[in-house]
Amino acid sequence: MGRSIYFFGGGQADGDAQQKELLGGKGAGLAEMTRLGIPVPPGFTVTTEVCNAYYAAGKALPAGVEDEIRAAIGRLESLLDARFGSPEAPLLVSVRSGARASMPGMMDTILNLGLNDEIARGLAKRTGCERFALDAYRRFILTYADIVLGVPRDRFEEALGRARKQAAARLGVDATRLNAAELERKVPDSLLDPESLAALIQRQKDIVLGATGRPFPDDPYAQLWGAIRAVFDSWKNHRAQVYRKMHDIPEAWGTACNVQAMVFGNLGDDSGTGVAFTRDPSTGERRFYGEWLPNAQGEDVVAGVRTPHPLSKSGAGGVSGAGGVSGAGGVSGTGGVDDACSLEAQMPDVYAELVEVQATLERHFRDMQDLEFTIQQKKLFLLQCRTGKRTGRAAVRIAVEMAKEGLISQREAILRVEPGSIDQLLHPSIDPSAPKKLLARGLPASPGAATGQVVFSADEAERRAGQGKAVILVRSETSPEDIHGMKAARGILTARGGMTSHAAVVARGMGKSCVAGCSAISVSQGQMAVTLYDDHGHPTDTITVKAGDLITLDGGTGTVYLGAVPTVPAALSGEFEELMVWADAVRRLRVRSNADTPHDARTARNFGAEGIGLCRTEHMFFDEERIQAMREMILADGEAGRRRALAKLLPFQRGDFVGVFREMAGLPVTIRLLDPPLHEFLPQDEAQLHQLSKAMGVPAQDLSRKNEELAEYNPMLGHRGCRLAITSPEIYEMQARAIVEAACEVAAAGIEVEPEIMIPLSMTRRELAITRALVEGVAEKVFAEKGRRVDVRFGTMIELPRAALVAGELAEEAEFFSFGTNDLTQTALGISRDDAGRFLGAYVEAGIFARDPFQSLDAAGVGELVEIGRDRGRAARPGLKLGVCGEHGGDPSSIAFFERAGLDYVSCSPFRVPVARLAAAQAALAAESSRGPRATD
Ligand code: ADP
Ligand code: MG
Ligand code: MG
Repeated sequence: MGRSIYFFGGGQADGDAQQKELLGGKGAGLAEMTRLGIPVPPGFTVTTEVCNAYYAAGKALPAGVEDEIRAAIGRLESLLDARFGSPEAPLLVSVRSGARASMPGMMDTILNLGLNDEIARGLAKRTGCERFALDAYRRFILTYADIVLGVPRDRFEEALGRARKQAAARLGVDATRLNAAELERKVPDSLLDPESLAALIQRQKDIVLGATGRPFPDDPYAQLWGAIRAVFDSWKNHRAQVYRKMHDIPEAWGTACNVQAMVFGNLGDDSGTGVAFTRDPSTGERRFYGEWLPNAQGEDVVAGVRTPHPLSKSGAGGVSGAGGVSGAGGVSGTGGVDDACSLEAQMPDVYAELVEVQATLERHFRDMQDLEFTIQQKKLFLLQCRTGKRTGRAAVRIAVEMAKEGLISQREAILRVEPGSIDQLLHPSIDPSAPKKLLARGLPASPGAATGQVVFSADEAERRAGQGKAVILVRSETSPEDIHGMKAARGILTARGGMTSHAAVVARGMGKSCVAGCSAISVSQGQMAVTLYDDHGHPTDTITVKAGDLITLDGGTGTVYLGAVPTVPAALSGEFEELMVWADAVRRLRVRSNADTPHDARTARNFGAEGIGLCRTEHMFFDEERIQAMREMILADGEAGRRRALAKLLPFQRGDFVGVFREMAGLPVTIRLLDPPLHEFLPQDEAQLHQLSKAMGVPAQDLSRKNEELAEYNPMLGHRGCRLAITSPEIYEMQARAIVEAACEVAAAGIEVEPEIMIPLSMTRRELAITRALVEGVAEKVFAEKGRRVDVRFGTMIELPRAALVAGELAEEAEFFSFGTNDLTQTALGISRDDAGRFLGAYVEAGIFARDPFQSLDAAGVGELVEIGRDRGRAARPGLKLGVCGEHGGDPSSIAFFERAGLDYVSCSPFRVPVARLAAAQAALAAESSRGPRATD
């Protein structure tokens, strides 16, 4: 371990902005600002290494660290001419957590540390403000008790209420009929007089003594050790752990701990505190944006007790009227009163200084900054700076504008926008300033916001949607039989299933909002029970939601709200188009889309898809009229009967392909022949079986028998894919005919077609030889009938390990490969993705997998198979075209792998296409910089 303590103050700092790993984001920022000559209260950072050593030693500070801290406090004392623990010139400090990645509000911070009765009296004398000193003291006891001593805040509520009543009596306010909230409004903290505060402090100490059996610590150093431990401990509190999991932040990073001299924003009306952004974090507009509160300390701005004021007058720097920083609502554009309360109007000199500081910081860090500041008696202090979080929309605008301003290069602009975040731009989103009631959380399966009435069956969804109602389909999980309901619904909510469950995949394909795997809900008998949880993950209550009740989904965050929450529509900005043009200019990988219908094909093309990488023909079989013919085919006794039923399906299939080819004029379209096992097309439950028996005039027993015949122990590894064609070639024959006829028809209309027929689940050369002969035979017949030829390519999916291994042989028959990485992951890992939900979470938690391998390609295993398939395939057939059509085709980190692997294209759901284009560009830039000198950033 290197040094434990990094000091900053008096214009010098031991650390700098590069040392986030060691100092955390906050510590590194404080050091860098100090170096830049920006006014920052002095202090020091205890490193993340100390935090990790603390945990390694079973929660004990390493030897020597305490002495180093005492020495650093000594430096602070001489710098500020004050003493820690002295009533004459008291030095108070804050003890602040700060990890490498910003985790706002997740860990703990303690302000005003270093007070006891005597020192509080000293502080009162020195500042000439008794009320201020006592208020700081009682806040300190409250936070310290809560965070360090484990006596929860709410234990002090009653004492605070009593203090308010006491103050009310002195103020002549009749408090007898007021409830707690009304009382707080009538007698806010700022009206608590010294006597009530003194009594309150005594009561708080009694409560601590009662709860812990020990007096509140009076010794400032004892307070300091407790606080530092608590900051380290907060790294592993429940909400921090949840946040880390959500944001892929490793447990091993640890947090740093910053000890910093206090400055006081609550020393009167010429003091205050606030937060600011160098650009608007929700729209990206270039204007200085933020909020402040006069006569207030730190957390008051975010706590939402008092409504903060804008920093700038509304005329200054343009007005966008976007949501507030703290959720307190729009601060801009109201003019009048707000203008008068703005910092710009109240303290023009301080405001001017702040504007200068923010400009310096943005120029220095070359990115939008999020700042915390405090004003103590007209003197400005910066307390934090970090790269500001922003919406996807703002990210795009800021990157493009900064490139145009010459602050960053175009390449940096491409690298600045997190591909996943632009997903939000393509869908309606929750109005950030709207009030909302959280119901439950699940997985963010498919982005977009949707509000509607709850329905529990696909039929009901279709019925109500037919009446013009917006509906949300709620199911335990979905299956292909629910497609029509999913189509009719605005959004889909499931209790089970992961990010690659049926519901998630289909919803993403449709561009519909979906929250999957929401384990807090359970669906049965036409209603859903929702378990509510507190912040610590403990269940608190259960409520029931019935059909017809309104809920709102935010598929981008996986959140479910009760009632209707207002949404804002998707809007593709000029900056977005511009960024995409820059991205397309540097990317090598082509981006295609998975699309099953002409409608999806059009959406995909509008988003920039350069072809279809996977058109799943079975989705075309689920429409009412078609499923009927499909079932006749399955139930038919002999080949003749099967052919009769298939003849009915042919025109439907051909029609779909005509539509898709037209939409994709001039671009390749890969069509996969039938893949799922046949039992998926038969109803499984008794009631539906009887219904079908009536409709088809087939005895229910026959249907049940057929179901039994088709039942498999492991359908994923059963009679499916090209195995169906080996036993019943007439299915693929019909499909091949529909494709070739459609291609001829569209070509006859003068439209360029590029059909590619793809065989699923092959693993031997012979399977391909047989299906190829079949497809070519049909094609030749159709060409003869139509008197025209079109180029039809023949290829296969590589989705079994054996297929990757014998890719050389397969390439003798196949003109292209498409890696089906969903099944390839299932079969390579031997994990069924439908059953993985039970243990995959634990695997990720235990670090066995860094990420869910169904979302993010397992490069070491499945990736190796892809590379083997690539090498052996291309060795046998130079120039063999290689693509990916699994869910990984839309995942940025997997795309980076496919770029490195030198594949030709990825294919993903239509709404994912822009994400993939950007990710492919970033991957190309990364590959380039790993070859040559590293690009800037
Ligand atoms: P978080 O990481 O949750 O933002 P911080 O450590 O930034 O927590 O502190 C919470 C609040 O207290 C912030 O508003 C911050 O500006 C304020 N604060 C922290 N340290 C000081 C200090 N030394 N003097 C005055 N205010 C402080
Ligand atoms: Mg902060
Ligand atoms: Mg497959």
